[in-house]
Amino acid sequence: MTQAPKVIKIHGRARRAYDDGKEVHREDRIYVPSERAWFDILDTNDHFAYRQNWHTGSSLVCSCGSTAGIYLPDVYMRFTSINKGRMICCNSLMQTSHHADGSTG
Ligand SMILES: [Zn+2]
Repeated sequence: MTQAPKVIKIHGRARRAYDDGKEVHREDRIYVPSERAWFDILDTNDHFAYRQNWHTGSSLVCSCGSTAGIYLPDVYMRFTSINKGRMICCNSLMQTSHHADGSTG
């Protein structure tokens, strides 16, 4: 088990995280090489999804410590009112309605 990233919040919103000593920032979109496409990220306050190990291969993760994946609107529309097609979302949030640390937003 790896340790969950340390998340830095600004005005109640997670902006940065320190994942294994590396700083990661909240972004609006992530490029997914296996799909050859950019995807928007589900906007939640407590955590954000990002790409880990940019250079060694892609793995989508959430700053709560969960992995993340690409979801259809049917799945994520209970967490947002904005339909942006397929979006990157926290796997824990999609499957259990909360992030890996128990937060729900
Ligand atoms: Zn999460």
